[in-house]
Amino acid sequence: MTKAVTFDNTLAFAQNLIRSPSPSGHEGEVAALVRYEMESLGFRDIRTDEVGNVIGVVPGAGTAPAVLLNSHMDVVAEGDHREWEYPPFAAEVADGYLHGRGAMDIKGPLAIQTYAAAALAGRAPGDVIVAHTVFEERGGLGMKYLMESGTVTPGAVVIGEATHGDICIGHRGRGEIEVVIRGVAGHASAPDRACNALDLVPGVLDVVAEFSRGQAEDPVLGASTIVATGLDVLPESRNVIPDRVTVVLDWRVLPDIGTEAMTKCVREALSARLGTVNEEFAIDVSMAMESQCTYTGRTHERDLFTPGFLMDPSDPFVRVAASAVGRRSGEGPAVVRPWTFATDGGWSYGVFGIPTVGFAPGEERFAHTNRERLELDEARWVFERYPDLVLGLQQALT
Ligand SMILES: [Zn+2]
Repeated sequence: MTKAVTFDNTLAFAQNLIRSPSPSGHEGEVAALVRYEMESLGFRDIRTDEVGNVIGVVPGAGTAPAVLLNSHMDVVAEGDHREWEYPPFAAEVADGYLHGRGAMDIKGPLAIQTYAAAALAGRAPGDVIVAHTVFEERGGLGMKYLMESGTVTPGAVVIGEATHGDICIGHRGRGEIEVVIRGVAGHASAPDRACNALDLVPGVLDVVAEFSRGQAEDPVLGASTIVATGLDVLPESRNVIPDRVTVVLDWRVLPDIGTEAMTKCVREALSARLGTVNEEFAIDVSMAMESQCTYTGRTHERDLFTPGFLMDPSDPFVRVAASAVGRRSGEGPAVVRPWTFATDGGWSYGVFGIPTVGFAPGEERFAHTNRERLELDEARWVFERYPDLVLGLQQALT
């Protein structure tokens, strides 16, 4: 017997997900819960791919293009449990909110999307694919893999990142860049014999500050920003003059720039300013790399880059989404705006060109904090609006 598609069952599913902590690379338990729920709701073609994404299909009544609903299964670290008003993994319901890590980013919306798809069984003119992905919080390995695999070919994607009931249409991309300064190590008692890599740090920071003032701007997404966020020094001994210092830069870019152009820009800005320094120094600029091991045992060496994207606000597809959803408090279509943070939509539209919008409950200001919560009235409203959104998009695609 299939489970009833009710908001109460959706909430119970979200609570189960929150009670199973799932940092990036450790989504296995949550994936099993998602599979179980899909089975209980009568999904077809349920599968887990090589990197651990879980995909299931609610077959459509016709041959309209598929709509893909996507949330991620990983969550960010919870930090000190004592700093939380409600325990991070208890999934307590209090004062009209669901509390805990992942309540809004993104296990509540994940549950809503899964149940909304089930609500469309036999009603949608095309397939509704639900794909919940891994490693979104570390650059979106799961979504990138899913899109590259070609195993799903949706006509549109809906992302479950918090929109507070609005329709979100894009965001800036994020790249993490490393500027590595190399010198010559030496004993701290004899600086003359060394070439201190730290000596170049002020120059690098000056260049970054100067560079940050000339950033491109978009009327919808706002300005691109670049800022230094970290400094690693090697060797770590405090009586050794270091020969290797890494300055870490966080660059929020507009959608039209890729990783090669990013490193080239920074390299050129640095060499224009620091080109004449002592030849015993060397400066390398590259994207920060991370070795990511999925819970299914696959290791990927990848740069930390999430592409940006922006749908045209006047695109008919966006207008259909906004009027299908409607305004939560008031008349007319939903508010259309970008997100402040990055999402897997950067892959689906930014790189793979599949029309993508976001729709979910939750306020951005609670994401990644120890006050994370999901307002249940808003969650219920979104749950009720989701089927119309999918149907609207599907009709627009045919
Ligand atoms: Zn998220």
